[in-house]
Amino acid sequence: MYDYLIVGAGYAGSVLAERLARDAGKKVLIVDLRPHIAGNAYDHPDASGILVHKYGPHIFHTNSKEIFEYLSQFTEWRKFEHSVLAQVEGKLLPIPINLDTVNRLYGLDLDSAGLEKFFASVAEKVDPIRTSEDVVVSTVGRDLYEKFFRGYTRKQWGLDPSELSSQVTARIPVRTNRDSRYFGDTYQFMPLHGYTRMFENMLDHDNITIELGVDYREIKDSVSYREMIYTGPIDEYFDFRYGQLPYRSLEFRHETHDREVFQQAPVVNYPNDHEYTRITEFKYLTGQKHEKTSIVYEYPRAEGDPYYPIPRPQNAELNNKYQALVNETPGLYFVGRLASYKYYNMDQVVGQALTLYAKISQKIRGGRTVPASALAAPQ
Ligand code: FAD
Ligand code: UDP
Repeated sequence: MYDYLIVGAGYAGSVLAERLARDAGKKVLIVDLRPHIAGNAYDHPDASGILVHKYGPHIFHTNSKEIFEYLSQFTEWRKFEHSVLAQVEGKLLPIPINLDTVNRLYGLDLDSAGLEKFFASVAEKVDPIRTSEDVVVSTVGRDLYEKFFRGYTRKQWGLDPSELSSQVTARIPVRTNRDSRYFGDTYQFMPLHGYTRMFENMLDHDNITIELGVDYREIKDSVSYREMIYTGPIDEYFDFRYGQLPYRSLEFRHETHDREVFQQAPVVNYPNDHEYTRITEFKYLTGQKHEKTSIVYEYPRAEGDPYYPIPRPQNAELNNKYQALVNETPGLYFVGRLASYKYYNMDQVVGQALTLYAKISQKIRGGRTVPASALAAPQ
């Protein structure tokens, strides 16, 4: 007899398993379809012994002290400030767009004040800002939008930026200084021994049973449990009652090269060339020393494992209909990127899971039932 059946051993499922087992003393069965824990953050040594991320580059960043301290119980960290170059017109230029990007692209010698004036002269007035095109053209103008954002976004999402909500390209800041870091967060680290090791430590508890390579639908009627926490795709759980929610998928091509360094930066983006969007070289992320180097190409796909919810108004509306079903079912909680159908980063999923745990533990101590879909992740 388990207290909780948890579907999915990624961040959402593993944080709840850990809290319920260690903090609340509950017995937990956690299952995952895949043959491993850690969900999309899974990493492993490849055939050459180089630590690689199976599902594409994962870099941890957060502004939340609470989330950072929570995860710090399960790992030591390596300081890592991510940086990305974009290949545009044969040049490798910093993205997010900053002072160096503009000066090198156009052969200018602007200072920060000059760049502010430049942006003011090229920015288009858009009111209200609704789409991913609006965000960029209203900040850096059309030429930079077309060179850095339009092609990449079309490739990545199979949609024009004008068809996507503003939040997608709003993830990428614009800077008028020379700061070339991809993220601006207070805490930017990689788990010193990798993500999988961190998850192993999280799930290492007598009250937690892990079953891998298992679809919960195969076992849900043969094990007994009191409540369920689900972290898979929400439309699938409800047998696509209102139709399919669209997800974007990726195909990953991993390669190992017989040289120490492959490219000039941890990630190189290709907004306008090639079928792939970006190449990641893992040793930059992990700090590993090795005479060879491993990289991964990302090819966006319409079919395949669901990796990205697609942020646009009609999808949000359909998702709201599904989320309403969750509230009708007592003892069922939905949490995580696919179950919420939200473009969450790792830290946001940890935050959402900790918030859900706080509500569940209140309920365990005698409070009321929690509508899981009402829970928000930190932005
Ligand atoms: P998942 O990790 O997807 O876990 C859900 C699990 O549920 C899966 O393992 C799945 O197999 C399992 N499951 C589904 N259905 C069933 C079923 N029927 N039965 C059993 N198990 C089931 N975030 C960052 O913060 N920084 C980054 O640099 C970053 N890079 C990313 C790069 C890529 C290419 C992608 C796709 C995502 C990236 N993310 C990044 C986002 C990050 O991966 C997610 O925020 C996080 O992994 C979500 O955790 P989760 O637990 O919600 O979902
Ligand atoms: N983007 C872009 N050009 C870039 C980098 C990002 O157009 O060089 C847009 C694109 O739409 C992308 C989004 O910004 O999907 C978010 O980028 P991010 O790097 O955060 O994507 P993720 O790592 O989640 O795939």
